[in-house]
Amino acid sequence: MRVKPLNQDNHSQFGGKPVTYTKIGPIEILTGENKSKIPFSTSLLVHGRDETALIDCGTGHKAYDYIKNQKPLKNIYLTHYHLDHISGIGEFPEAQTWINPYDKHKLKDLHELTKANGLYAVLGEEGAEDWIKKRTERNNPVLNAATNVDMNVYPYELPLQIAGEKMIMIHAPGHTEGLALPYFPDHGILFVVDIDLSSFGPWYNNIDSDIDLFIQSALKTLEVDAEYFVTSHHKGMVRRKEYEQKLHDYLAIIEKREQKLIDAIDRGISPEDIVYEEVFYFKETHKKSPLEMTSEIIGIVKHLQRLIKNGGDYEDYYNEFITTHHLIKEYLFYKKEPHPADHHPLMTKTHSL
Ligand SMILES: [Zn+2]
Repeated sequence: MRVKPLNQDNHSQFGGKPVTYTKIGPIEILTGENKSKIPFSTSLLVHGRDETALIDCGTGHKAYDYIKNQKPLKNIYLTHYHLDHISGIGEFPEAQTWINPYDKHKLKDLHELTKANGLYAVLGEEGAEDWIKKRTERNNPVLNAATNVDMNVYPYELPLQIAGEKMIMIHAPGHTEGLALPYFPDHGILFVVDIDLSSFGPWYNNIDSDIDLFIQSALKTLEVDAEYFVTSHHKGMVRRKEYEQKLHDYLAIIEKREQKLIDAIDRGISPEDIVYEEVFYFKETHKKSPLEMTSEIIGIVKHLQRLIKNGGDYEDYYNEFITTHHLIKEYLFYKKEPHPADHHPLMTKTHSL
């Protein structure tokens, strides 16, 4: 691994406002608005000789304007389907867009998206279809951009050339089934995306999430020969030593949540009330955001499934939880292998420049 010097004084001037981004060699870390708090996220901009390439597209307008002032943006690589990582793709109609093999169909078909994110399980078929209908009628610009943009598929684990730099997309399932972590071996940079070291803790609250795979993938990042670890939210860029320390505390939150759940069940908290035990979100948040209640419910489902898998006697509680919250059992699991054409690396290799 060659590690290029870190340049934190990269000032760029446009629109009268100075923008400062961190740059490592030719790779620039574009922090999103509101310090990349959701619905914003951090992007990487790769500066090539004649063009740029962008990884993720959810920074907000300040950075989009900045990107438009650089060399032409030819390719956008999306790490996964979550809207906070793709919301700006409509800004760059000239660029080719690439996504991982699992997520292409989720952006092409909102039914797949809502099966994967859990709305089918929580709202039922009618509720989910109603949600899609409303979003489509309202002409939601993010969803429109996502569904209308022509999506290409990149392969995992193969060296790709993007704007002249070598990048490998490491498959890191858990947060979602298809999450890819962009790795630049020549610069020692690993974009760990939503393994974000936040104090909230790991987020695995979609149906296509998996707690144990999240842990496995997070631990796998430690084996990558990198010095700079960039998160999509919260922390931003950290050096290896700090990343190693913080990652263990971050993953420990998973076991704390599970213990909280076990304790609540032991205390006799009913499946109806357990969603207010703050396993994930503060009670107050649920009053404001029904979407976060969906995440809470799915998070608890994930932990109950895990407890049962590990031999715990939680089957009855799990079934009662499903009944109480009117969940559709068949939609509590989601696994859809990519289309063979999207999965075979050689099919997509032609885009290596
Ligand atoms: Zn995400």
